[in-house]
This record gives sequence, structure tokens and C-alpha cells, in this order.
Amino acid sequence: MGFSQPNFLPYTATALLKKVTEKLFVECYSLLRCLPELLKEEVGLGCHTDVLLFTPTFGIKFFWTSTDRRPFGQTIPSQCPGCWSLKWPRVSLSSNNLTYRLTCRVKCGWKEEHAVEWDPSWRLSQVDKNSWGERLVYGRWQDVVAVQKAPRGEF
Ligand SMILES: [Zn+2]
Repeated sequence: MGFSQPNFLPYTATALLKKVTEKLFVECYSLLRCLPELLKEEVGLGCHTDVLLFTPTFGIKFFWTSTDRRPFGQTIPSQCPGCWSLKWPRVSLSSNNLTYRLTCRVKCGWKEEHAVEWDPSWRLSQVDKNSWGERLVYGRWQDVVAVQKAPRGEF
């Protein structure tokens, strides 16, 4: 397990690491099974870094998504590129979640349309204000599912 952010501030992961340690070494869960659930409790960490999980057969990057700040895991500017006001652009999602629009909150007229780059290497279980998506770094999703479904004695 690791973190991808350059100049990462380790204290931001303190709560997650404490919980992971307890799940792994006290309760004997596998990291693959407990990490997604623990990340749901630590969505604030997603503002600081992606979380990486590497195994011999597959690697997964957990990335933070937010319909307001990081739609579909894509970084948006923290200020308007049109008038440079220090306000996040307003994000409007299309009904089919294939595109989203950024609009200036100060009403300078700046707006920008973005396509969501869906591909089979990543998945997102929900589109909301605070959650984690998963991107396969290497390996196959079938291998991930096989490990998730394996009896507890085999992992
Ligand atoms: Zn503007």
C-alpha cells in the first residue's frame, strides 16, 4: 500500500493507517477486503493523495471523486481561468454522466465542457460529492474479483 502524491504529508493518512493496522494485524483481514471500506471513512484523505494497492497479480489506484471539486477523479482549476476569481468553478453534470460543464461562479461568462474519459481500467460505484473510484494499474479485474470472493482462509 502506498500514496501517490509528491510531497505527501504523512499525518493526513494517520487515521487510515491506524485502522488498516488494526484490521490487518489484529482482525486478520486482507488489505483488499478492508481498504475500500476504510477509505469510505477517510474521504478527506482523497484531497491529499491517491492510495495505491499493489499485489503480485494486480495493482489498484483508489482516487477521490467529488461532483463539486474533482468530477470523476479529474482535477479542475481552483480558480476561474476567465477572471481569476478565487472560487471553484460550478460543476454541472450531464444526465448520462458522459460530460460535465464548468462555469464561473462570478459570472464572467467563462465556461468549459469536458468529456468523461470512461474506460474499462477504472470504475466508480457512485457519482456524488465524496467517494472513491478505482483504477486498475496492472493486472485484470477478474483477478481482483477472484481475490475478493476467495474464502477467508485463502487470502
Ligand atoms: Zn470567471
